[in-house]
Amino acid sequence: MLQAVEEDIRSLVEGLNFKQKVDRSLSLIEQAHKQFGDELVVANSLGKDSVAVWHLAKKISPDIRGFIVTTRFKPPETVLFMEEEVARYPELRVFRNDTEIPDKLYETAPDRCCDLLKVAPARQAIAEMNVDCWVTGLRCTEGRTRVDFQEVEQRDEGLLKLNPILIWYEREIWEYLALHGVPVNPLYGEGYRSLGCGPCTRITTDSNERAGRWVGTSKCGGECGIHTRPLKLVDGAGI
Ligand code: SF4
Repeated sequence: MLQAVEEDIRSLVEGLNFKQKVDRSLSLIEQAHKQFGDELVVANSLGKDSVAVWHLAKKISPDIRGFIVTTRFKPPETVLFMEEEVARYPELRVFRNDTEIPDKLYETAPDRCCDLLKVAPARQAIAEMNVDCWVTGLRCTEGRTRVDFQEVEQRDEGLLKLNPILIWYEREIWEYLALHGVPVNPLYGEGYRSLGCGPCTRITTDSNERAGRWVGTSKCGGECGIHTRPLKLVDGAGI
């Protein structure tokens, strides 16, 4: 049975080769799928890491479901890619919050903006899809805010979080996607390395893959909150 455990993640990142990492990821998803069945759901942000995890999950079972959280600020290329992904995989459900928010909230209060437009729909997805285990494309080599995660985590009661590609390098993601001919968001061709909403995402050459996110704000290189805030709330409070 999968349980949250503390592991020396750095030694796994540096010690395993590409094939060993792929096998480890598949094994983690397989174990979780055996344990949770249809209550296991993959989060898909439409970035390179998400499409890699989605492809891995589909090798374990074509029936695995997923959800996409989108916002009114996603670039047109991402919206088009999302439509193509949903057409390819109708078992991907899309969640968004269309509530009215103050103009340019992403400039004045980006944490609040992400909370409303990203975290709230993620909570809604977890609740509506009856999720007991969610699978993410989070990687510990992406940047400073991602070094302390584990492959199996229990952040919310009743919700296991699986990060099956946590130990992959950026180049190993591209290796996997190229080897399997997995379609990717065309914005990567423009030089982006981490994708988000249009106003909060820039191209970066920094060693920190997420350095182009929320540039010029206190959130620079940071997190939207989906990986740091509670997602399964008692009685749906806060959704
Ligand atoms: S990434 Fe920017 S625009 Fe998108 S929800 Fe967060 S603050 Fe708002």
